[in-house]
Amino acid sequence: MLGVLLVLPVVAAPSSFGWGAKGHTMINHLAAESLPDTVPAFLRSPAAMDEITYLGPEPDRWRSPAEPELEAAQAPDHFIDLELADLLGTLPRERYQYIAAIYAYGLTHPKMASEMQPDRVGFQPYITEEVWERLKSAMRDYRRLSAAHQDTAPVEAAIIFYAGWLGHYVADGSQPLHTTIQYNGWTGPNPNGYSTSHDIHWNFESNFVNTAINESDVQPLMTPPQTIGDEWTDYLAYLHHTNSFVEQLYQLDKEHGFDGTGTPEGRHFAAERLAAGASMLRDMIVAAWVKSAEPVPEWRHEEAKPGASASSGPATAVSAPEQTGPVIAENDSTLGPVYKIGHGIVGPVLIYAPDPQYTDKARRKKLSGELIVSLVVATDGSAHDVQVVKPLGMGLDENAIKAVRQYRFKPATYNGKPVAVKTSTEVEFGIY
Ligand SMILES: [Zn+2]
Repeated sequence: MLGVLLVLPVVAAPSSFGWGAKGHTMINHLAAESLPDTVPAFLRSPAAMDEITYLGPEPDRWRSPAEPELEAAQAPDHFIDLELADLLGTLPRERYQYIAAIYAYGLTHPKMASEMQPDRVGFQPYITEEVWERLKSAMRDYRRLSAAHQDTAPVEAAIIFYAGWLGHYVADGSQPLHTTIQYNGWTGPNPNGYSTSHDIHWNFESNFVNTAINESDVQPLMTPPQTIGDEWTDYLAYLHHTNSFVEQLYQLDKEHGFDGTGTPEGRHFAAERLAAGASMLRDMIVAAWVKSAEPVPEWRHEEAKPGASASSGPATAVSAPEQTGPVIAENDSTLGPVYKIGHGIVGPVLIYAPDPQYTDKARRKKLSGELIVSLVVATDGSAHDVQVVKPLGMGLDENAIKAVRQYRFKPATYNGKPVAVKTSTEVEFGIY
């Protein structure tokens, strides 16, 4: 009896795991090891370093066929095909706006509709931003608990987990094949004769790194610490920089740079990319710590976003009654972040308050009472976004708005620095 022997690859090459376990482990370890002493000591302890290192490959452990739903949901988090994503123009910062933008693009470009599917284009910067924000949130809570002399052990565990989890995606972001439609074999016109093999991805990130690259090759290539400005913008720039290495990777592959123990150029290339991941992870963890000290805005003024729908604008936290007419909603984007009073923010002090004008109509009706307006007090003490919350009618609401717009305040402060805040005030109308 003769069985039919199917020749299957012994190791099924995972299509897009993003560095193998060794690369992810190295990146997380090198980043943890290089954290500066400006971050809390617990994060630099040997135990934290061990945990962060262990967590490097963690999201790949969630990609087992034993948990198919989890795998399906998270696979697109590991990559982004920038050549497709960039067709959208400026990427929206929020995951669901991005999904909507991709589908909208497909509707207006039917030939691209099959490619322009969110799970095919990928969510790399979105998961990174979201995990980074979890880290920042936990760090903010750590600061609060520390300041209150409460137990910080539970939140320290959360911070270590988020830092390690974040490391996986930041590391994926330094692997050129995780940023491109050319993620596993060249597609389309191929004048340079690059490999079309579906082994290139796995060979580069796992096989070659396992065989030829060690931490001692990577560590010297880490960059000096850099300050992250806006983390979303800086991370997208990092991904685009990674993407600029795609063709070089194919060229080195063609020159057998990643075969066996590779060539010096191949080894340097892989080590440099791993070092870029470790450097960025270190800087992103530091940025989360620095920014966790910032006060919490009540809302952000929406920046002008081409193509963003108007309805996604900043929540006007308290919407004004309709009878207040056209005098509302200044939505002055020069105000910057607007904060709530409390949590260390000292409220503004009113220093100049001209009386509102009464109206003849209200006088005839002998109408008196108080109305409440909400407003934003800017860092220079001026009043903006004045809106009536509790109206009186008879023209008094409009007059109150006019008066409050002329109010002047000693601005609110956080750690002694002026900040814009949203607040409310009463305006009284009386007949005496
Ligand atoms: Zn990955």
